[in-house]
Amino acid sequence: MENQKELLRALPKVDECLLWLKGEKRKDLPSRIVKESVQEAVAEERKKILDGVSGTDIKKQDEWVQLFLARIERKLAFNLRRVINGTGVVIHTNLGRSLLPGKAQKMLEQAAGYYSNLEFDLETGNRGSRYSLVEDIICDLTGAEAALVVNNNAAAVLLVLDTLCKGTEVIVSRGQLVEIGGSFRIPDVMAKSGADLVEVGATNRTHRYDYEQAITERTSMLLRVHTSNFRLIGFTSDVSAEELADIGKQHNLVTMEDLGSGSFIDLSRYGLMKEPTVQDVVKAGIDVVTFSGDKLLGGPQAGIIVGTKDVIARIKRNPLNRALRIDKFTLASLETILRYYYDLQGALANIPTLSMLTVDQAILKERAMRVIAEIQDTVSEKCKVELVQTNSRVGGGAMPECNLPSWAVQLDPLKLKVSKMEKLFRELQLPIIGRIENEKFLIDVRTIQEEEVLELCELIKEFFT
Ligand SMILES: *Cc1c(COP(=O)(O)O)cnc(C)c1O
Repeated sequence: MENQKELLRALPKVDECLLWLKGEKRKDLPSRIVKESVQEAVAEERKKILDGVSGTDIKKQDEWVQLFLARIERKLAFNLRRVINGTGVVIHTNLGRSLLPGKAQKMLEQAAGYYSNLEFDLETGNRGSRYSLVEDIICDLTGAEAALVVNNNAAAVLLVLDTLCKGTEVIVSRGQLVEIGGSFRIPDVMAKSGADLVEVGATNRTHRYDYEQAITERTSMLLRVHTSNFRLIGFTSDVSAEELADIGKQHNLVTMEDLGSGSFIDLSRYGLMKEPTVQDVVKAGIDVVTFSGDKLLGGPQAGIIVGTKDVIARIKRNPLNRALRIDKFTLASLETILRYYYDLQGALANIPTLSMLTVDQAILKERAMRVIAEIQDTVSEKCKVELVQTNSRVGGGAMPECNLPSWAVQLDPLKLKVSKMEKLFRELQLPIIGRIENEKFLIDVRTIQEEEVLELCELIKEFFT
């Protein structure tokens, strides 16, 4: 107890600490952050003493200063930071999904630093519509009559249901009542929009007659949800987009498909899975289709709605649309991405998501070998480095069981637990995020950008020296 009193008495006064810090080289520190850091550090030490944490003893001035400076550094560091994605998951939702090409970054910067014709018609000098900036391009690329872009695909689904289905019944197959990440479940979104969900069919099989038998005078829509993040295999069948569109026309009901990822390119040509493209679904006669901007499309976060003139016009008039509208940064980058799709090769070469998904294996192998050659000598005493084959993932809930053969740098630390190394890599100034497989740390080079290869090597070398 005596010792505790002594320790408490020895705690420095905040004003005193502030004077110590005045003597430090860095004089540009915001005073508020400095004061908060000092108060917190001293309070933490006081709590330790009161809790009787062992090993607490009287600190010298320079020990305190180091503590304060570390705390100040942490507060000054940005919360949203760049990381190196060595997971091989291309559309990694937790790491920001799609990367934008340089041209889109330029357009973003221009939209940020200058005025624009966001809602100004340069021809007439009157008010314009922000939606018209990308609508024609989207229609051109998908074959749809009309289009509208909102904040994300979840918003798109909500907006369509809210506009067309409030107080009515919407028929969905039981095999398509999906939950995607972030607690977005089709039945919940439906409830939020005020529509009643009518489930039909069985989990594995739904037939045309299931839909037809469920139609009542309260039915407003037949909804298909693309089961993008899981796959039903075995004894299954569902009603195709064409067939659903046909049932809709016969009964005068709107048909909708939530496509989730929504690609403009059939990626099965590049060794990925066959997924219906947006054009396919529009062509099948579905009235309204929604998809994400930042999944397979490779653009900014957005929800794109394409459909018939009549349906889109009704959605545009919904006041909820105003609450879900996209900003000028999204529009600037989305337009850039969309324009790349006029030329297939241009899209594959310039849109990072597509390039990463379709990159040649030889390029990946060469990149991994380059990393190894660069770090080998420096780290060899502390870490075993090997070239290994691995499988990357598409991510973003798309093509769940599609393995993309890839190459990785495998790190096997000799004096450190691999889980500890994984944690320390995450805590670097520029964090490296990888995966642990069979007690080894893997950096899949598919998601390492060419311009960050050297940076990655330097980080690893520095870590082991
Ligand atoms: C990803 C996804 C969504 C949500 O899209 P966000 O753009 O992330 O809001 C909705 N439906 C399906 C089927 C999806 O795969």
